[in-house]
Amino acid sequence: MRHAFPELLNLEERFGSIILGTIRSKLSAKNGKGQGMKDTSANKKQRRGSFSFLGGMQTLTDAICEELGEDKLHFQSKVLQLSSSCNGNSPLENWSVTYASNHHKHLENQSFDAVIMTAPLCDVKEMKIRKRGTPVLLDFLPEVTYMPLSVVITTFKKENVKRPLEGFGVLIPSKEQQNGLKTLGTLFSSMMFPDRAPSDLYLYTTFVGGSRNKELAKASREELKQIVTSDLRQLLGAEGEPTFMNQLYWSKAFPLYGHNYDSVLEAIEKLEKDLPGFYYAGNHRGGLSVGKALSSGCKAADLVISYLDSSSREKLPTGSLWKM
Ligand SMILES: Cc1cc2nc3c(=O)[nH]c(=O)nc-3n(C[C@H](O)[C@H](O)[C@H](O)COP(=O)(O)OP(=O)(O)OC[C@H]3O[C@@H](n4cnc5c(N)ncnc54)[C@H](O)[C@@H]3O)c2cc1C
Repeated sequence: MRHAFPELLNLEERFGSIILGTIRSKLSAKNGKGQGMKDTSANKKQRRGSFSFLGGMQTLTDAICEELGEDKLHFQSKVLQLSSSCNGNSPLENWSVTYASNHHKHLENQSFDAVIMTAPLCDVKEMKIRKRGTPVLLDFLPEVTYMPLSVVITTFKKENVKRPLEGFGVLIPSKEQQNGLKTLGTLFSSMMFPDRAPSDLYLYTTFVGGSRNKELAKASREELKQIVTSDLRQLLGAEGEPTFMNQLYWSKAFPLYGHNYDSVLEAIEKLEKDLPGFYYAGNHRGGLSVGKALSSGCKAADLVISYLDSSSREKLPTGSLWKM
């Protein structure tokens, strides 16, 4: 709870209970509105629980790509080695990154002032990290448990869905398995984001597997189709076959924030402390969502800026910063 949903823990700590905290914070938001806060559309947007992008997630990656410029990005490349020269004189180009590129079929090397690592920790463990030529042993990084998941996307003709519920979706409590429901939950994707489907269809995104049903995540496409159609029939009265179906399987969909997750966070902190100019961001830290991964990346970028600023301030005589 503390690591996956820190805002819930914050509510509990401030108000003694999550439910009470939710009510109180909603009330105080309302009061704030009464005390002169204008309920502008920007404020309304900020309070919205869910967000997406016109055209889907690809819009975000396309925008980042355009901002950075394709020549600065290396697609289909696997980082194999990171070496820090850590020469103590300057942080500039301290880090050398070796990666295997699919396009060129050979190893390439590039130098950087700092590194923000966002690969899952299980992949970091496979990388070779060196500091001043000496290998850094990564055996102190704990094993992280990952959950497998299948995502099944279906569409149904609107006229065939007898109880089309409003809202973002449904989460199925595990006890409902005894009533034959096997999925973890379904997002009503076209309810939340109408651009996701033609106007005569409902589009659903259903999750199968997780810690509750690991084996089911790997089920065949046909079996998953049966499971999802059966659950949607029971929940929403979706009749007949879906007019479209797609399925995606993730063997390591997300890290499980178990009760010993503190040790994972401590290991990440140790890695950052031992390796100047190395920062770790992403969903192994601070929560499991695109929004949280983005804010974790922004936090890491701020730390890099402070690191480079303070390193150059230490090395340069007072006043020379003004000329930069
Ligand atoms: C099925 C599914 C559905 C989800 N739905 C939602 C949702 O509706 N809303 C939401 O907010 N969140 C959702 N999430 C969670 C969200 O996708 C994650 O929290 C987010 O993507 C985490 O981003 P990340 O950059 O930390 O990690 P990832 O997205 O896992 O990215 C890590 C990247 O590192 C790369 N990598 C690994 N090793 C190397 C290497 N050696 N060299 C180079 N690159 C490497 C991987 O290829 C990968 O691209 C979902 C997750 C899953 C799995």
